[in-house]
Formats: sequence, C-alpha cells, structure tokens
Amino acid sequence: MFDLDGTLAPSKEAISPATARMLCALLSAIDVCIISGGGFEQFDTQVLGRLGESCDLRRLHVMPTCGTRYLRWEGGVWTEIYFERLTSDEKNRAIEVLEGGAAKLGFRRDATWGPTIEDRGSQVTYSALGQHAPADVKSAWDPDNSRKESLRQYAAERLPELEVKSGGSTSIDVTRRGIDKAYGARKLMAALGLTMGEILFFGDRLDPQGNDYPIRAMGIDCIEVHGAEDTIAKVAKVFGGLVS
Ligand SMILES: [Mg+2]
Repeated sequence: MFDLDGTLAPSKEAISPATARMLCALLSAIDVCIISGGGFEQFDTQVLGRLGESCDLRRLHVMPTCGTRYLRWEGGVWTEIYFERLTSDEKNRAIEVLEGGAAKLGFRRDATWGPTIEDRGSQVTYSALGQHAPADVKSAWDPDNSRKESLRQYAAERLPELEVKSGGSTSIDVTRRGIDKAYGARKLMAALGLTMGEILFFGDRLDPQGNDYPIRAMGIDCIEVHGAEDTIAKVAKVFGGLVS
C-alpha cells in the first residue's frame, strides 16, 4: 500500500518511468493499493496514465480521497466499487469556513495557481496557493506545518460534525468524521479479506501530524520514505528480486 504525493511522485506531479517500472513489477506478482487525499483525476494524470500498455492493472487498487472512493480495473475500464459523497450542505459549510479562515489568518492571496477550493465529492480540499501551484513554491510555503495547523484548528472548531485534516504541503482536507487513510485501509482489508499483518504501507508523512499517521496508528507495518527515489530503494530492499 502506497501513499501518492511525496511517496510515489512529487506533490501533484507524474510518477517517473522508474516508479512506473517498479509498480508494474510489483503488480505482476502482488496486489498494490495506492491511497491519497487527491481525487481520481489526480490518480489518472499522475499514475494511471503513466503505467504503460503492458502493465497488468488487475491487481491495482485505487483509493482516491482517503478511500472514500475505490476503483479497480475491470473489463478494460476503471470501475467504481463505491463512492461515498458528502451532502451539499456539508460541502457548502466546509467551503465557507475554509475560505473565511484563510482570509482571517491572512493566507488569502490575490493571485493563485488555479482555484483554492476543490470539491472532490467525498472531500473538500483547500489549497492555499491554488491546486496547480508548482511543487517548489508549495514546499516553501509552510515548511514547519504551522500555517496549515492554524487553519486546521480554525476550521475544526467551526465544523465539529466534520473531520478537518492537514493534507499535502499547502492543503487542508475536510471529510466526514472518521475518514482518513486508516479508513481506506480498513475498507481494503474488508474488500480483499486481508489482515493488518498482510499489508505493508509506504508513506512520507507518518509523523503524528501527517496524513499517513492513521495507518501507523492502527498497527499496520509502515516504512517511512522521503520521495519517490527513496521509495524505489526501500521497495527493492523489501521485495528484492521482484522489482530488480
Ligand atoms: Mg504524502
């Protein structure tokens, strides 16, 4: 099981050919799940469209928006197994609070790289610099996570019925309560009849404030990585002959 941004690719960028080769090598032998706070469209441009014709996708489990949506490759198309949406009331309230909080805390900018609010169906995401901001600009915006944490606190106090989490380098995610990557992992375990001991998770934010932490907290074995090259190296160490 892999996180996407910061683990298989830089935030919102495409996976490298080497990462694609690694994933396809794994997929020829074992089940692979990729889970992310991002929407399916992000998976498509960052990963799925990069795997190549010869890659066998039947063992790939795609979990956008922390596993509130689950797709598999069936009969030659990406097929939705389920999609749990927020109500429009929940979404509107979340957008109002995130935009209000950003303005109040002084994060609002006149110019951004694309919209700051993204409606992902089961998740509303606020990206301080816009959804399409370059990776280097994003990583420089809040290196110690303090800005995201102040907005997360602001929104969490005002949206008690919803879950507010710090997502990528500039983003805050709002979902229904109890939805995090551990939720997705439980759904995957139920769908495939797996135990926790049968899953190994690779992620770049396994620290207690990170969006991969719930996976570690539930007791799944985790390997912390720092970018895609590190992931390839650590996968090679664990799976040896499978990927080399
Ligand atoms: Mg990540």
